Amino acid sequence: MIVQLHHPASSEVIGEATRFLEALKLKCRTVCTADSTLLVVHSGQLQDPRSIRQCPGVRDVHHISDEFKLVSSQWKQGRSTVTARGVDFGPNHFQFMMGPCSVEGEEQLEAVAKFLKSHDVALMRGGVFKPRSSPYSFRGMGLDGLKLFREVADRHDLGIVTEVMEVAQIDAMAKNVDVFQIGARNMQNFNLLEAVGKSGLPVLLKRSMSGTLEEFLHCAEYVYNVGNDKIMLCERGIRTFEGAYRNTFDVNAISYLQSRSHLPVIADPSHGVGLRRHVVDVGLAAVAAGADGLLVEIHPQPDTAVSDRNQTLYFDQAARLIEGGRQFHALRQAMIH
Ligand code: PEP
Ligand code: MN
Repeated sequence: MIVQLHHPASSEVIGEATRFLEALKLKCRTVCTADSTLLVVHSGQLQDPRSIRQCPGVRDVHHISDEFKLVSSQWKQGRSTVTARGVDFGPNHFQFMMGPCSVEGEEQLEAVAKFLKSHDVALMRGGVFKPRSSPYSFRGMGLDGLKLFREVADRHDLGIVTEVMEVAQIDAMAKNVDVFQIGARNMQNFNLLEAVGKSGLPVLLKRSMSGTLEEFLHCAEYVYNVGNDKIMLCERGIRTFEGAYRNTFDVNAISYLQSRSHLPVIADPSHGVGLRRHVVDVGLAAVAAGADGLLVEIHPQPDTAVSDRNQTLYFDQAARLIEGGRQFHALRQAMIH
């Protein structure tokens, strides 16, 4: 159950409602976001949910049968829009986040930034801390790379999406980041989820390669639970018995997540299939299925990319995906409304 208070709620109002619930042996947690004050009842049931209305400042009471509460679609009216650096993501705002797998240097960043600007893409991705299967592979340019990334992004008025791998990196990165990406390998790093939530910055949370959707939504709950509702869920392919491609993009997940959660759902066809030849097709399939945005790896010279070169698009392919994606999204909107 979620008890929604009129926002902002005073500490007296929060205290009185909390005492009311605790007297009935219910356990609750207060969660304050930028525009809501919520008491999340996570243990026990109120026999008569209307009884809490006798406390002052109660705006609404929502019964939620899902184990995850804040991210559940059972209480929010409609789907949420998340704003990152003035760019809206959500049901009526389809967006692209594109860029290299890894930040490699100024020339590469400049070329990508120019391409994105000329195609009206507002957010650029690029990793400076890279989770690599082998410790001998390129592991990213670190904070120096992020500084460079920020300089180039600022020159072109672009937002930055980049992965944070550990709690200790957050403070040093935050001033130069617009969206923190939590990578697949860290989906269930609960300390990192809470810490990134507390940073207050928007979070792009990737599903892990073997994470169920139920687990995925619980992970998003960790971020929301500390007061950060700026969360985008990202389907990036899962491990299956199929070895023909890197991962199996789970197109089902898009529609399913949007039915269970109010959060925007982004698709990453690059990691989802892992082969350049198929990224545009899988990306368009994701848009047709309802994705609110696409995260895509591109590079001025994909064949020289230091990481994930096999799945990285040439600019002309990226341009086709941008154009096609926008058309598919418009068609979907027209079909639904
Ligand atoms: C990436 O976006 O480059 C990345 C490492 O993604 P994932 O965590 O989905 O493997
Ligand atoms: Mn990558």
